[in-house]
Amino acid sequence: MPVAAISPDVLAKYEPVIGLEVHVQLLTATKMFCGCANRFGADPNTNTCPVCLGLPGALPVTNAKAIEFATLASLALNCQVRERSIFARKNYFYPDLPKGYQISQYDKPLAEHGWIEVPTSSKTNKRIGITRLHMEEDAGKSLHDGFSDSATRTYLDLNRCGTPLAEIVSEPDIRTPDEAFEYLTRLKEILLYAGVSDCNMEEGSLRCDANVSVRPRGQEKFGTKAEVKNVNSFKFVRAALEYEIERQIEVIESGGSVKQETRLWNANDGSTYSMRSKEQAHDYRYFPEPDLPPLIVSAEFLSETRKKLPELPEARRARMIAEYELSVQDAHTLTASREFADRFEAAARTARNPRRVANVLLSEVGGRLKALGLEQEQSPVSMAGIVLVADLLDEGKISSKQMKQLFDVCFEKGEDFAAVYEREKPEQITDASALEKLIDETIAANPKQVEQYRAGKKTMAGFFVGQVMRASKGQANPALLNELVTRKLEG
Ligand code: ADP
Ligand code: ZN
Ligand code: MG
Repeated sequence: MPVAAISPDVLAKYEPVIGLEVHVQLLTATKMFCGCANRFGADPNTNTCPVCLGLPGALPVTNAKAIEFATLASLALNCQVRERSIFARKNYFYPDLPKGYQISQYDKPLAEHGWIEVPTSSKTNKRIGITRLHMEEDAGKSLHDGFSDSATRTYLDLNRCGTPLAEIVSEPDIRTPDEAFEYLTRLKEILLYAGVSDCNMEEGSLRCDANVSVRPRGQEKFGTKAEVKNVNSFKFVRAALEYEIERQIEVIESGGSVKQETRLWNANDGSTYSMRSKEQAHDYRYFPEPDLPPLIVSAEFLSETRKKLPELPEARRARMIAEYELSVQDAHTLTASREFADRFEAAARTARNPRRVANVLLSEVGGRLKALGLEQEQSPVSMAGIVLVADLLDEGKISSKQMKQLFDVCFEKGEDFAAVYEREKPEQITDASALEKLIDETIAANPKQVEQYRAGKKTMAGFFVGQVMRASKGQANPALLNELVTRKLEG
C-alpha cells in the first residue's frame, strides 16, 4: 500500500534512526563445520553431508579458513577481536533448517566496537559504529517458484546449509537513506579488498536487513523500529528506507504508534508490508553450542592475520591522491576494485612519469570508454599501452594531438596502442628551421597576441604553441616547439 504524500514540513519534524545488519558469505572452499564444497550454483542437494544436514550423531568441526576470513573482516572494520568467543545455538523451526537450530554466536561474538567512515554531503566523513561481527552458518533455501507444481509445492535445496557467514551489525548511527547507501557501499568495498567475500548480492552472498525508526527532532529516546528483511540491492535498501520512514511518520501523525515488527520489501510496488511481529532473543532459546569448544584467537594468530590485510580503500585513495595528484573522484575511479588499482599502480610504477599514466588512463581512455558506454575491461588499450603513451608524451616523441589521433584508430579498430603506433609511426618535425618558419608565419599573422605577450601576458605562449601545432598537423615535436616559441616571442 503506497504511502500518501507527506508535506516536507511534516517530514522535517522527524529524524530517522537506522541500523543495518549485513550477512556476508565467506569465500572458503568448504563449509563452516563440514568438508562439503561451499559453492553457488551446484545441482540442488548435492553439496550436503550428515553434518550440514544435521543427522543424529554428526559432529561439527570448525573451518580454520572461515575464522581467518572473519578475523580479517573484523580487523578491516576496526573491530576489537575477542580472545575467546563462544558459538551458540539459535533454535528455531523452519523447513530449510533441518537441524532445528543454527550455530551462531550470541553474547560473546568474535569481534565488537568497530567503525567505518562514510562520506557525507558536507565534505567531512562520518563514523558509523559497528556493534559486532559474529560468525554463523547459513540455512538452506526454499524454492517457491520455477517448478510445474510450484502452485502447490515448495522445494528445498539444502546446499547452502552450513555456508560460513559473518554477520555485521551497525550501531543505530545512520540518519538518512543516503547514509545507509554509503555505509553499504563502503562496507562492501572493504570486504572485497579484504578478499573475504565476493559480496555478490544477486547470488545472495551479501544480504541486508534494515532497521529503522523515527523520532521527533530533538528527542533523545529512539522510536520503535521496524526491520525490513532481505532487500536485494543497495538501491532497494535506500528506497525501502525512504518508504518506511514516510510510513512511520504517517502512522504517528495520524495518532497511531509504530509496531515493532518484521516487514518485507516489495520491489514491484516499492513498498514494505508486514511479515510477522518481531521475535525476541529469548524466543530463540540461545545456549552455548555443546559440540564446539570456545573459539580462541591468540595474539600470534591476530598479528599474523593483521599482516595479511591489504591497504584498504580509504587509505589507498588518500595515498594515491597525493602520489598521482588525483581528484577525489578520480581516486574513486582508480580504486573501484583492488584488482584494477593494483594493475594501474604496477603499470604506473614502470613509467617515466606515473602521474601521466593516471592522466592518460582517466581523461583520454576513460573519457572514450565513458562516451561509448564501455567498461574498463572492454578497453582495446591495455595498461602497457597506456604506459607507452605516457612515456612517448613525456619524451616528447608524440604530441597530444597525435596521441588523440592514434587513440582514434585504437578505438575504431579495437587495436592496442603499441600495434597502432608501430604501424602509423606518426611523423615528427624535429627540424628547428622548419618549425621556426611556421612560428614566424604565426607571429606575423597575430600581432595583437604578440603585443599581449610582450605586455606581460606570458600565458599567450600557449596560444602560439597551439596555432603552430595545428599548422604542423600535430607533427611538431612538442618540447622543441615550446622552446622555439618562447625564444621567438622573447626575441
Ligand atoms: P533486536 O534485539 O531487535 O535484534 P538489536 O538491538 O540487536 O535489535 O539491533 C538490531 C539492529 O537494529 C542494529 O543494527 C541496531 O543498530 C538497530 N537498532 C536498534 N534500535 C533501533 C532503533 N530504535 N531504530 C533503528 N534502528 C535500531
Ligand atoms: Zn556438509
Ligand atoms: Mg539483535
